[in-house]
Amino acid sequence: MHLARFPRIRVGHLPTPLEPLERLSRELNGPEIWIKRDDCTGLSTGGNKTRKLEFLMAEALAQGADLVMTQGATQSNHARQTAAFAAKLGMDCHILLEDRTGSNDPNYNHNGNVFLDHLHGATTEKRGSGLDMNAEMELLADKFRSSGRKVYTIPGGGSNPTGALGYANCALELVSQANDLGLTIDHIVHATGSAGTQAGLIVGLKAISANIPLLGIGVRAPKQKQEENVYILAVATAEKLGCPGVVQREDIVANTDYVGDGYGIPTPAGIEAIEMFARLEGLLLDPVYSGKGAAGLIDLVRKGHFKKGERVVFVHTGGSAALFGYTNTFGYDRRPASVAAE
Ligand SMILES: *Cc1c(COP(=O)(O)O)cnc(C)c1O
Repeated sequence: MHLARFPRIRVGHLPTPLEPLERLSRELNGPEIWIKRDDCTGLSTGGNKTRKLEFLMAEALAQGADLVMTQGATQSNHARQTAAFAAKLGMDCHILLEDRTGSNDPNYNHNGNVFLDHLHGATTEKRGSGLDMNAEMELLADKFRSSGRKVYTIPGGGSNPTGALGYANCALELVSQANDLGLTIDHIVHATGSAGTQAGLIVGLKAISANIPLLGIGVRAPKQKQEENVYILAVATAEKLGCPGVVQREDIVANTDYVGDGYGIPTPAGIEAIEMFARLEGLLLDPVYSGKGAAGLIDLVRKGHFKKGERVVFVHTGGSAALFGYTNTFGYDRRPASVAAE
């Protein structure tokens, strides 16, 4: 596998830092927990979509696109990073936003990522939940094409073999950082949704025979479906990279016990994880992805699945901008102000 063969626009602040979480590790009294700071990729508050977009937007540019389209949930971090990337390249950006939660909270519908989409100059339109959103987008793209636009469409989450290259690259980056530090990694954990992050990571890890188990914590689909989605994309990504067959079905492991009531609906464990990371480590997670991912990590440490003496790397996939769409969930304005202990 040789990533330099693929067109790429280097916008991300890479490599992202790999840091120990000392206070969180002490609090949980289990494995040594480290964090791969993909929340720090640099583009419009950062996040994991930037790595994928480096390859996707290079393809858009090579095809002479003047309009980039994508789709996602209302508080999509992918939409926000696409809008920012398009702005940087001087392309127009149009986004279809799916109302997956039915929330009528003004912050959810207009603040956070939605605010940033518009700040970056993207146009948005809404769809109800349950549609085939990629099909909706292609229909609309054809309309733009018939009026003369050169449209490049990016599937939800940037999750196709081109986008997943960004995470094959992240696997190389992470293992090489660990090698430089003399750090052995026993497990890698991250939030998994549209599957590109997990698919890319597993292809990268397997292609270099790192022998590090990867665990995706699901945020939407049931386990079987999530693992199938990741596997199909991983197989296609490995083929694109010229290393077909490196990924086996059993390499793909997702734990979907932390989804709660559904995609984009906060869970008590996710909120606890967000507060723990914020108060023990000064780090920002989000209620849709990284908070649920961290809730899985924390619970699996408490249950002894990850043990003392092991080292676990949590890939922080970003999402902090979504916090401002969910401030009501925390209810701080409804709780009495606390007084410092005397
Ligand atoms: C999109 C996203 C994920 C999930 O990544 P996929 O590649 O879609 O599986 C995780 N965390 C955050 C913050 C995201 O925005």
